[in-house]
Amino acid sequence: MAAPAETLLTSPDFAEFLFNNLSSAVFIVDGNFRVRKVNDVYRSLFSKSEKEVLNQLCGNTLGCAFAIEQQRPCGSTSACGECTIRSCIANSLATPGDIQNTYVSRTFYINGLPVEKRFRIKARLVEFGGEELAIVAVDDVTELEEERKKVQEMANRDYLTGLYNRRYFFEVGESFFQNAKRGSLRLAVAMIDIDHFKRINDTYGHAAGDAVLKGLARILERNLRKADVLSRFGGEEFCVLLNCKDGEDAYAVLDKIRLLVEREEFDADGRRVSATISAGITNRLGESLEKMINQADEMLYKAKNAGRNRCEVYT
Ligand code: GH3
Ligand code: MG
Ligand code: MG
Repeated sequence: MAAPAETLLTSPDFAEFLFNNLSSAVFIVDGNFRVRKVNDVYRSLFSKSEKEVLNQLCGNTLGCAFAIEQQRPCGSTSACGECTIRSCIANSLATPGDIQNTYVSRTFYINGLPVEKRFRIKARLVEFGGEELAIVAVDDVTELEEERKKVQEMANRDYLTGLYNRRYFFEVGESFFQNAKRGSLRLAVAMIDIDHFKRINDTYGHAAGDAVLKGLARILERNLRKADVLSRFGGEEFCVLLNCKDGEDAYAVLDKIRLLVEREEFDADGRRVSATISAGITNRLGESLEKMINQADEMLYKAKNAGRNRCEVYT
């Protein structure tokens, strides 16, 4: 008679097969953080043979920088008190049934070389032969995290100019505004708009218009301070949060940019295209960021009506 499927789960061959064919590196440690067993993925991820790791302290077998850089065994450095791997394992040993989860970003020495890695760690208590052990699964999520960061970064940026987009501008801008409200920061808002941009498109074509937008973005980036928040708001409109002393200071920054744009010959597929900008600025801290943007917009409108290629500050 064939054995019931459940007995298969307890078969040593089946357990061995599962243990070594997971995508996670798995190790089993005892209450003293000494490694008692590792699987194939563990051996290849950390380039260690079974012999090298058995009965060693877990940080030493993982190539953890804490221990290696200070040439001390795992658990004996001052940094070991903050070790998230250690506390994850300790928690799992203290709480039967629960799966402990944690992430660590740290330097690990693999084949003697330091590598920045981000690992996801899961640990769970198992009882075996009257002994309490922690079974720990380690997943290398370094690449996954980098991809996630890239996607996140792309979602925050405008595809044409690479500047922050409007959505991200408000996300960052809100905390800027709150800091200004608390008095820890002096804030000015500037709205910038290319003059007669429609004409540029009509005269030189849409691709030339795009080249001007990109060129203007680079001028803005080069001439604003690192702490300023620069975004393409839409179309040929840019919005900037400036960290500055007063309205005059903000005006000086923007008017310098205006002059640089006036003098620039933007390269559009070999053709030289000129453009000018107008800007509206306010440094009067309103009741909301939106209100300040509206005020800067009013000033922009004033600059346009006064003949363009100029900056106006709210007074
Ligand atoms: P003003 O001086 O009053 O600002 O006039 P303007 O022509 O710049 O303003 P208007 O709003 O009439 O035209 C803006 C133009 O910008 C119209 C639109 O086709 C163009 N535009 C918006 N987004 C893009 C873009 O991504 N690339 C290009 N090439 N043109 C764009
Ligand atoms: Mg315009
Ligand atoms: Mg416009």
